[in-house]
Amino acid sequence: MKVAIVTGAARGIGLATTKLFLEDSWRVAMVDCDDEELQKASNALPGTVPIYCDVSKPDMVQEMVSRVLDAFGRIDALINNAGVAMFTPLEKTDFDTWRTIMATNLDGVFLCTQTAIPALKESRGAVVNIASISGLRASTLRVAYGTSKAAVIHLTKQLAVELGDYGVRVNCVSPGPVKTKLAEAVHSPEIIKAYYDGIPLNRSATEQDIAETVVFLCSTKASYITGQMIAVDGGFDASGIGLP
Ligand code: NAD
Repeated sequence: MKVAIVTGAARGIGLATTKLFLEDSWRVAMVDCDDEELQKASNALPGTVPIYCDVSKPDMVQEMVSRVLDAFGRIDALINNAGVAMFTPLEKTDFDTWRTIMATNLDGVFLCTQTAIPALKESRGAVVNIASISGLRASTLRVAYGTSKAAVIHLTKQLAVELGDYGVRVNCVSPGPVKTKLAEAVHSPEIIKAYYDGIPLNRSATEQDIAETVVFLCSTKASYITGQMIAVDGGFDASGIGLP
């Protein structure tokens, strides 16, 4: 039996990733700070354990990892997917907004990985971080979000180099636009139109598109892949068109 922790699993990309792991007979610790949605999602999915946790809080992350080990006894994959987005330019980004985004998107990845690493070393497991094309390309609106995701891409490489000796692989996936609650909140009609003009495959990603890559990266098929960033973006980054 293999065990994955998926953060931000109550909905969106995290929920789709959980379902795909279950199809491959993994067990999943579903982690989220929206307890109501988390319980609802986990109740519908046998083979999962719901764990309420804000990934930006060190004590809660410690408790979360202990609970995963109590429930399943091992951790084979950690998917750092929990994320928040606000699209603002520099002068409209107050410090609280900056901190909120960094706390979940960057501190959360650091804390969950650091806390789960003893178990991941034991299993010679895998970490997949969910970054974004906003971490690859600069834009006028994403001073905090884009910077947090660029940091996640570098943190991925840093950890891959540090943990290679232990057989722990660390990769990251940078999605293009996916129609989730997070995207709904920040994608204006203008941004959506610009994406459609710039994406060679002429569509948004589905949650499944992203989940397939994540689960592949945790599988034995990816056993020689580490330190990589895969953009699952319909070719947006390759097109060279500016990020709206
Ligand atoms: P979503 O809002 O549908 O899901 C995010 C989940 O994370 C929610 O269930 C939320 O409750 C949870 N969460 C937020 N902060 C948390 C915290 N501090 N602790 C624990 N859980 C927390 O969003 P999504 O679109 O599925 O996003 C998943 C990831 O994909 C994020 O990291 C996001 O930045 C990234 N991403 C999304 C898109 C997109 O277009 N949707 C594009 C690029 C990258």
